[in-house]
Amino acid sequence: MNCSFAKIIINISHESVDRPFTYIIPDKLKGLVNVGTGVMVPFGQGNKLKQGFVLELTDETDVPENKLKEIDSILVNGIALEDNRIRLAYWLKRNYGSTMINALKTVLPVKEKVKESIKVTIVRKASLPEIDAYIEDAIKKRKVAELRLLYAIKEDERILKTIVTDKLHVSSTVISKLCEKGLIEAEEERVFRDPNKNQYERDASLSLSPEQKLIVDTVRSDWASGKSETYLIRGITGSGKTEVYMQIIADVINEGKQAIVLIPEIALTYQTLMRFYKRFGDRVSVMNSTLSKGEKYDQYEKALEGKIDIIIGPRSALFTPFRNLGVIIIDEEHESSYKSENSPKYHARETAIEIARMQGASVVLGSATPSIDSYYRGKSGEYKLFTLTKRLTGNQLPSVSVADLREELKAGNKSIFSRELQEKIEDRLNKKEQIMLFLNRRGVAGFVSCRACGFVVKCPHCDVSLSLHGSGKMVCHYCGYTAPAYEKCPKCRSPYIMGFRAGTEQVEDAIHKMYPAARTLRMDADTTKEKDSYEKILSSFLNKEADILIGTQMIVKGHDFKNVTLVGIIAADISLFSPDFRAAEKTFQLLTQAAGRAGRGDKPGDVVIQTYKPDHYAITHSVTQDYEAFYEEEISYRDLMDYPPVKHMLSVLVTGDTEVFVKALSERLVMEIKKKFDIFVIGPAPANISKIKDIYRYVFYIKSSDYEKLISIKDCLEDILSKRENKRESVFFDFDPQNMV
Ligand code: ADP
Ligand code: ZN
Ligand code: ZN
Repeated sequence: MNCSFAKIIINISHESVDRPFTYIIPDKLKGLVNVGTGVMVPFGQGNKLKQGFVLELTDETDVPENKLKEIDSILVNGIALEDNRIRLAYWLKRNYGSTMINALKTVLPVKEKVKESIKVTIVRKASLPEIDAYIEDAIKKRKVAELRLLYAIKEDERILKTIVTDKLHVSSTVISKLCEKGLIEAEEERVFRDPNKNQYERDASLSLSPEQKLIVDTVRSDWASGKSETYLIRGITGSGKTEVYMQIIADVINEGKQAIVLIPEIALTYQTLMRFYKRFGDRVSVMNSTLSKGEKYDQYEKALEGKIDIIIGPRSALFTPFRNLGVIIIDEEHESSYKSENSPKYHARETAIEIARMQGASVVLGSATPSIDSYYRGKSGEYKLFTLTKRLTGNQLPSVSVADLREELKAGNKSIFSRELQEKIEDRLNKKEQIMLFLNRRGVAGFVSCRACGFVVKCPHCDVSLSLHGSGKMVCHYCGYTAPAYEKCPKCRSPYIMGFRAGTEQVEDAIHKMYPAARTLRMDADTTKEKDSYEKILSSFLNKEADILIGTQMIVKGHDFKNVTLVGIIAADISLFSPDFRAAEKTFQLLTQAAGRAGRGDKPGDVVIQTYKPDHYAITHSVTQDYEAFYEEEISYRDLMDYPPVKHMLSVLVTGDTEVFVKALSERLVMEIKKKFDIFVIGPAPANISKIKDIYRYVFYIKSSDYEKLISIKDCLEDILSKRENKRESVFFDFDPQNMV
């Protein structure tokens, strides 16, 4: 292209990221300046030369010609780290559709002043026999929280206080109590005063099983021959994935390179964290959502300055700017939290692969139930696929059985618990073992309908059914709209209008009625609204303050509850009802994970799956825990329907406050696509949820095996949209969506 002007983002370290500036492309540089080119430009009053990066070429500008400056020169080999960041932001913008500023904000942390933080370390003060004596006493008095800390401090002389509180779920009160008794001491230290000090005694690497060794050796030899690849490890919990990650990381660090480890926050347990600290010492840094923006920035700086080698954290840790990145590990790679819900709606897995490509690093993905997307790429050879088949912990897999709820009704059992589940609940209550009851969706359960005429009560603002709550109110889970429950059906006047199926509250009520002595805890979006409530519920269940934990997906991830020997899945097929092409995959993953909660300790566990559809392949294969068989059925369905990963899919959501305009804009966009591209478009149609908070939503979908083609369509739409006069409607792009809107 031979455009006259270039829009340029000035080097970020100078804080002028808010908008691009327009520069004239001088004749001598025409044809050499492209989107993505690094340039030097005069900037500000003094016209000091600054690095910049070309975002866009154009022939038009609103700025008067005499105010414009010329590009000075092109940067040769000038790919500083900052340029890499900008390049990445541009890649995000291009591949997922967002503004450049949003893409930049994703990639670069906000610079904020950080209050100097004080690091507190819990240090063992008493002798080991003294600790042992105290442990005996604590067992007698059933002081479970104290016990957790005592066992930990017996093992490790020093533990960071934040880890004790956040990961061991031991409160500050308990810590102070043990301090008063002289067993431990809380030592304050300014952070990073002594960055090289080794906090923990180092653990040695384990000698690998042949299956594990094959993976580590392959990564090592690919590395040695200059290849950076993507590897996928499928292996159940306890099969040794983390050990493999750690040995790959050790290799990388030996080469003077760094590692990023992504683990969903909810799955990052105390045991895992401590294993990393013990293997790699203080060169490990942990990122989590409780860090302030300033603290996150502080971590980025440390990475830039080479003060740390390993960062562990959720999705956003991916953007840690290491200078010499060697590997990105993504554990639990199937987790939907790896896809951003805000623009740019990037997927951490694809973005990791791009970052690794830019920096010559490897990517290692791991999961017990890999996403269909990744497994497909593993099978096709795009990723190198490995399987770990043996459990190294010696714990047995739980035994899984199915209860057909249709049969229960036929047999006259109207309760929400099958006879088998009831028997097992009683048994565990008698044995004082713990139980988890899992309901895989809030909202859908408990919707209000008339059993005489079938009328379903919907939110007047959102087009989703209202849920009945214990308080006798109907609530919308999208917008919070509340109305008193009907006594009679507004349509047919029948009195049989009621909450249908069970929500978590109803499950809890039923338990209280049937087993009045059972102590319950409930964990769902309602009970975890307040800060820390999630941690509080977990720690009180860990402390055996309850016999039964009832909850939604939140309870199936992460934590090891050693005393849980029964997991009941109340209605396994609820999530199959959602109109989403990933519904079977999500159901299979959830059931497998939920089942994995049983029998983490030395006692074997039981799982009871209740369902109305015992023949559905997502159910049958989760009973036998046969991932491969599930994958085969699922991929043939995706293939038949042209869904990802077989083809790529772009969803375009148009929203606005006036339905006719939303519809008209959607139709116009679809028409333009059909005019310019030879491609089939599904829709436009009102979205599954056609209205949220009085904002109308229309959606259309395009599928193609060529991702680039979808990008061209998005670019074309963006172009049309930017030329609109009236911008009251908003348009959102989602590539290979995780959820159907
Ligand atoms: P995963 O990450 O798949 O859940 P881990 O790496 O945590 O599996 O391993 C499970 C358990 O087996 C851990 O206690 C770990 O220390 C142990 N383990 C892993 N690899 C080995 C090995 N090669 N030899 C002995 N024990 C191992
Ligand atoms: Zn009715
Ligand atoms: Zn609503």
